[in-house]
Amino acid sequence: MNPELSVVIPVYDEEESLPELTQWIRRVLDDHDFTFEVIMIDDGSSDSSWEQIVKISNEDRRFKGLRLNRNFGKSAALQTGFRATSGKVVITMDADLQDSPDEIPALYNMIVNDGYQLVSGWKKVRRDPLSKTIPSRLFNYVTRQLSGIKLHDFNCGLKAYAGTVVKNITVYGEMHRYIPLIAKWAGYTRIGEKVVEHRPRKYGRTKYGFRRLITGFLDLASVLFVGRFRQKPMHFFGTIGSVSFLIGFIFTVKLFGEKMYSLFVSGVPVKRAITEQPLFYLALVALIIGSQLFLTGFLAELLSQQAVSKKDYLISEKIGFADEQFITTVPAPTRSVR
Ligand code: UDP
Ligand code: MG
Repeated sequence: MNPELSVVIPVYDEEESLPELTQWIRRVLDDHDFTFEVIMIDDGSSDSSWEQIVKISNEDRRFKGLRLNRNFGKSAALQTGFRATSGKVVITMDADLQDSPDEIPALYNMIVNDGYQLVSGWKKVRRDPLSKTIPSRLFNYVTRQLSGIKLHDFNCGLKAYAGTVVKNITVYGEMHRYIPLIAKWAGYTRIGEKVVEHRPRKYGRTKYGFRRLITGFLDLASVLFVGRFRQKPMHFFGTIGSVSFLIGFIFTVKLFGEKMYSLFVSGVPVKRAITEQPLFYLALVALIIGSQLFLTGFLAELLSQQAVSKKDYLISEKIGFADEQFITTVPAPTRSVR
C-alpha cells in the first residue's frame, strides 16, 4: 500500500536538528492518522547526521535514509528523494527546523481536496538576516515577472506535490529554486501558495551565502532558455546565426561590388585595399559567428534528439489501453482520503 504522505528532507550537517525534527513530524502525522514515510537524504554530511538517521530509522521504520557519496547539493538530494517516494502526496521540507511540520496537514489538504498539483510555502514573515531577505525579494520579483508564475517565495523549502509530479520532473544543479517553473513546463500548472510559519535557525548554520544571488540569476537564465528552446534549439541559434550571417553577407557584397565597380566600370582605383577597410573585418567576424551559431544549433538539435524521453511528452490520461501500457508514473491517486 502506498502511504498517503512521503516527506522528503535534504540533510547537510544538521545533526542537532534531526532528533527534534523527526519527533515533531511523527507527533503531527500520527495525530492526524496519516500513513506516511519520511525520507531523509544525507547530502554528504561531515558531522554525525547519518548516524542520527540510522538511529531514528532503527527506532521507527517509517523513517528512512539515503546517503549520498559526497555533498552534491540540495537539488541532488531532493531529486534522489523524489525517486524514492511512493506517497500519494509528497512534502519537502528543510532539516534545520526553520519549516514547521504543523503545516503539513493543511498542505496535504490543498493537494488532495483543492486539486492543486504543487503548493509552495510562502515565508511571509521571514526569520532571516536582512542580507538574505532583500536579495530574496529581488530574486522573487524577477522570477515572477519572467516566468509568469504568481508566487511570492519560489525558494521556500516547504512544498507539497501530487505524488506523480515529483516523478516527472528533473531537478539538477541548483535548480531546486525553480521547481515551480520546471513543473509548469511539464504541464503541471495548478500551482498554489500557502503562507507558512518561518522560524529562526536553531542549530547549525546556513549553507548558502551571498554567492547564490549571482549564480541564482545565471540559473534563471538557463532555466528560462531550456524551458523555451529545449525541443527546438535551432530556433534560437539558427535565428541569431542567420542575422549575423546576413549582415556579414551584405558587407561582403558591398565590398566586392565596390571593387568590381572600380576595376571594370569607373576605372578609378579605390582609395584603400579591401583588407584595409574596417568593414572587411566586420564582415569576416559576422560570417564566422553566423556559421558557428548554425553549427551550435545543429549540435544542440542532435543532443536534444538523443535526450527525448518519455519525460518530454507526459501522458496524463488514457483510454482503451491496458493498465500496464503507457505507465508514466506511480499509480494515480484513486480516491481522496480525508
Ligand atoms: N542542504 C543540502 N545540501 C546542501 C546545502 C543544504 O541538503 O548542499 C539542505 C540543508 O541541510 C537544509 C536545506 O538544504 O535542510 C536548506 O539549507 P539552509 O537551511 O542552509 O538554507 P537557507 O534556509 O539558509 O536558505
Ligand atoms: Mg534554512
